[in-house]
Amino acid sequence: MKFGVFSDVHGNLEALLSVLKCLEAERVDRRVCLGDLVGYGPDPGACVDLVREHADMVLAGNHDHAALGLTDLSHFNPYARFALLWTQSQLTAEVVSFLSGLHVANSWEGLCFAHSSPCEPLMWHYMISSEDAQANFRCFAEPICFVGHSHSPVFFVEESPVRVVCVQTTRFAIEKGKRYLINVGSVGQPRDGDPRAAYLIYDVSAGTVELKRVPYDIAVTQEKMARAGLPRFLIDRLAIGY
Ligand code: ZN
Repeated sequence: MKFGVFSDVHGNLEALLSVLKCLEAERVDRRVCLGDLVGYGPDPGACVDLVREHADMVLAGNHDHAALGLTDLSHFNPYARFALLWTQSQLTAEVVSFLSGLHVANSWEGLCFAHSSPCEPLMWHYMISSEDAQANFRCFAEPICFVGHSHSPVFFVEESPVRVVCVQTTRFAIEKGKRYLINVGSVGQPRDGDPRAAYLIYDVSAGTVELKRVPYDIAVTQEKMARAGLPRFLIDRLAIGY
């Protein structure tokens, strides 16, 4: 059994198509999207349609909630707020209805999935440090929890209930007796200095987790954003992955 897990598409159709193509080539059995399908990018509707068609399990993120009017736009910076208001004007009733039916965290196939964090998933906490992760290991019982939200991939390993370490690698073997909190990074707006789209492969039989990157035509997305009148800051950051 192979899982393909991805998050934070943010209306970036070119990046999403590249990731879906890779998941096809990897012959994954389950595709999981951890939310933030919309916001920032120029193709919110098309991305929702594609994720809906290809993913076996889909969560909602804070940008999806904001686009639906479920989260106050004052929580977002001016660029994100501008893009969310534009996104709201683009969504069809069908897309709104699909996004409205999504959870923000879920236990599925013996694994934990959340957009932001397993503790208080509707508070949209960021898990940056090992201390943040340590508190969150108490909020799920499964051996692995996959999250998105920060747009920066990171692996936290619970070696014992009092010892959580942050592992800087792209691939590791899952060990019995340890638990894992894994941020899969972002498809449509990476912020770890690598502009390529991020996704993760969990191969259950091989017992390995691997973070992967795939290039996409950033210039095409940037051109669409410019045509839609989206903020220059959001357009430029795609090229540097920050
Ligand atoms: Zn996001």
